[in-house]
Amino acid sequence: MKNRTDKKLYKGGLIFDHDGDVHRPIAADLLTEGDRIKKVGANISTEGADVIDASDHILVPGMINAHYHSHDTLCRGLFEELPLEFWLLYTLPLGAFRSKEEIRLRTLVGALESMRCGITTVQDMLGLIPLTEENVDVVIDTYAEIGERVIFAPMVFDIPAVGMIRHSEELPVHVQEMLGTSALDCKTQLNFIDHQIKRRPSGGLLHWAIGPFAPQRCSPELIRGCAELADIHDLGIYIHTYETRSQVLMAREKYTENGGSFIRYMDANGMLSHRLNIAHSVWLSREEMDMMAEADAGAVLCHNSNMKLKSGVSPMLDMRSAGMRLGLGCDNCSGSDVQNMFQAMKSFCMLGAISDPMPGSELSHHALRYATLGGARTALLENELGALKPGYKADFMMIDMSDVGWIPYNSASRQLVYTETGRAIDNVVIDGKIVIQNRKCTTIDEDILRAEVRDHMKSFIPEYEDIVHSRKEAIPFMLKAHQRVWNTDVGLRRFIARTHYGDGGLNET
Ligand SMILES: [Zn+2]
Repeated sequence: MKNRTDKKLYKGGLIFDHDGDVHRPIAADLLTEGDRIKKVGANISTEGADVIDASDHILVPGMINAHYHSHDTLCRGLFEELPLEFWLLYTLPLGAFRSKEEIRLRTLVGALESMRCGITTVQDMLGLIPLTEENVDVVIDTYAEIGERVIFAPMVFDIPAVGMIRHSEELPVHVQEMLGTSALDCKTQLNFIDHQIKRRPSGGLLHWAIGPFAPQRCSPELIRGCAELADIHDLGIYIHTYETRSQVLMAREKYTENGGSFIRYMDANGMLSHRLNIAHSVWLSREEMDMMAEADAGAVLCHNSNMKLKSGVSPMLDMRSAGMRLGLGCDNCSGSDVQNMFQAMKSFCMLGAISDPMPGSELSHHALRYATLGGARTALLENELGALKPGYKADFMMIDMSDVGWIPYNSASRQLVYTETGRAIDNVVIDGKIVIQNRKCTTIDEDILRAEVRDHMKSFIPEYEDIVHSRKEAIPFMLKAHQRVWNTDVGLRRFIARTHYGDGGLNET
């Protein structure tokens, strides 16, 4: 393979170094050979290398979106702000039982958007229903086709989706069915995942991870099985945990054997370890943060999705002070409508700012670490991804500093986090290959993709409209269950900026 021996010399750019001057990175050359960074330094010999002029650019490690689902990228822009439990009513059916063509298209759309925005790795926690080998192949082959790195974790669960919602057993049966009342058995899924990891081992752009859906959707047997699989294959684990108030209430009221704590439930079943990453963790308690930090377990924060889905604001400063590992994610395309880690980093810093009125440590360079090295660590890839150093994978973006967002140029880290939107990215390199060149994808024909998606949406949108229509009768029942959740004290506050939460009859105690 020619690419494996290719040398490319990126000459004269500013090289962002987490451990160096994060405001004023130094100018240097960066040499890649095959899929890795070979050398970073002044005046590297151009011999045998293709030379790429990187002057007037800043080279930044590729972002790692540590919580993402490709199964609903076609749903972007279909929903306003909506509590997660209501949003599930619409989005669960729109991600399941899709054609192979749609799976390919939605994977391409999400990957292309990510790459254009400097996300060189997505952690795709994919709801692949049905969970078949054929579908797994479509997803892996599509990422390979477009050239995006993926940490692939097809989700497993043996408790149906309706079990996610507190008081769901009191919903009428037809409403329960709208949410989902079926699940595969534990052993079938564990064997399937084990077989897929062996059949298509990690390598190149593919990295596996284990993806139990959520504690409340996994039996103790499945939690134990997932933890064992992760040990056997030396992989990270991603699991949605404490995303909403409904979920923390479920932990308190139904998991009393585990002290009302999902973290203790996972601990009791062997999952609380350095491999564990909990997505969202909006309603995590301080005691649980200490347990997580002690175990070197981490959280992947998805603030934009949490805000749009009315879940609340995670206590990220407490997590930091507890010493928890952190990564950042963008979550579903129907939940925050964009795959953009610049937005994720900015929200992290902004919400951090209004979580503490006192002057504190600067957050921007921490946000950059979480979005790169922190994300890499979630998949135990911290020595491979997230930094521009020799030996690391050649995954980075080139930011054109002639863009107005860099005029004047005062601080790389602050302008990357607070100013940059992705607009100034003109080139992106993944696995040593230039996959975005002058803002265009080099690996697929974007015009063809646009036309294919436009065509596909002709049948997708009527299906979406049918679902929205059919869900109307579920709303009053869902509202009642939601109201009960909000009328029960859980001992934690995760909403801000209002003295009372009265609209719609929802009252926080
Ligand atoms: Zn998610």
